[in-house]
Amino acid sequence: MVKLPPHLSVQNQHLMIGGCDTVKLAFTYGTPLYVTDETRIRDNYREWISALSAHYPLVRILYAAKANGNLNILKILAMEGAGADVFSAGELHLALLAGMKPEHLLFNGSSKTEADHRLAVSKGVRVSLDSLDELAMLDQIAEEAGKVAEVSFRVNPAIDVPTHPKIATGLATSKFGIPAAEITDAYAAALACKNVAPVGIHCHIGSQILDTEPFRREAEVMMELVDELFHMGVKFKFIDLGGGLGVKYEHSGSGPDAPTFAGYASSVLPVCKSVLARLGIQPEIWIEPGRSLVCDSTVLLSKVNSVKKAHKTFVNIDAGFNLLARPVMYDSYHEVLVANRADEAPDGTYTVTGPICETGDILAHDRQLPGVVAGDLVAILDTGAYGYSMASQYNGRGRCAEVLVRNGQAELMRRAETIDDLMATLKTPSWLQVNPE
Ligand SMILES: *Cc1c(COP(=O)(O)O)cnc(C)c1O
Repeated sequence: MVKLPPHLSVQNQHLMIGGCDTVKLAFTYGTPLYVTDETRIRDNYREWISALSAHYPLVRILYAAKANGNLNILKILAMEGAGADVFSAGELHLALLAGMKPEHLLFNGSSKTEADHRLAVSKGVRVSLDSLDELAMLDQIAEEAGKVAEVSFRVNPAIDVPTHPKIATGLATSKFGIPAAEITDAYAAALACKNVAPVGIHCHIGSQILDTEPFRREAEVMMELVDELFHMGVKFKFIDLGGGLGVKYEHSGSGPDAPTFAGYASSVLPVCKSVLARLGIQPEIWIEPGRSLVCDSTVLLSKVNSVKKAHKTFVNIDAGFNLLARPVMYDSYHEVLVANRADEAPDGTYTVTGPICETGDILAHDRQLPGVVAGDLVAILDTGAYGYSMASQYNGRGRCAEVLVRNGQAELMRRAETIDDLMATLKTPSWLQVNPE
């Protein structure tokens, strides 16, 4: 049986989230439907902050906006005091619109455009540089604007992390960051620029990491560099350790546990603290969690269109990898429940498949579920991170709605896309325009 996390429960056989009945939500808003519990996000944020603050006074959380870019999620986190790691002009605009302060944002990315740098300079948002080409580009743009742009460099610490290869970002071979051995040269170049001031250092080693050891090693590499750079004259305002702490996706007995936020803090922050005390400086320490803040806040509700006994028993639901790409992209596991009979014992093995015209459109392989029939409602758990944010319109399907719940209240935070939305950006080249005459 699936052991439910505390904000989910079962009442009258129905799965509940944030005090709302998922069966009623599906009836009211239709399916597929992402449902997010606001309280869970606030609780996760507060648990992170108290875990970090127990070790060091000046900590800041820059929520990784790519995990879930709904403006309302950013607003909730802004109200809690979070900033954001933004990776595009769109994410930067959303974060500012959500009420986050420019000085609490960091514009990351390995392939930023001139327009990106211009936007950061005009909004007063710090930039994490990923190459010397970017440094030259930003110096020029800041000079044209008559400003000094504060920056960090992203370090590639060459740390092997135990996660899916597509989300290991700090390997020596990864496209991200400047190799640790070349970092001092990069800062020397930045110190020599008139319109750029290096004030921070940045790193992010990967995602869904279920062990604190790689983070501790990352902190050691980073603090060695901080020591060196401090003596070169870099005046540190922040040290950004990135995100990547994993979450538990398997709640049915097997599967690895995730480290606690307190466990992360106690293996990483003492490493930073001792070096900073020795140098006699007290910059802010930033982390950039995405998944661990929002993942467990959300379920994806999807209706069973049909059940087919073939070489396996397939449960054909109305959500596929168009709405939840993770199982197909990263072979990832999400717990699946039958939401309208959530406390019934399993009666067999089912494979849950989406409506997309691809053999690979499978959301869950060989799961033990209670006798599923057409018309049932399934809930796919832990879909708050890299769920909707990676959704597409593939196969001519609009993206679904998102609902926010809080203490029994429920309201839309994004409507579903319509057929008109699918057509909205189309243009017809002149030679294809049919003249009715
Ligand atoms: C994706 C990303 C994060 C967040 O990673 P999580 O695994 O969701 O915590 C943080 N920082 C950067 C630079 C990222 O690219």
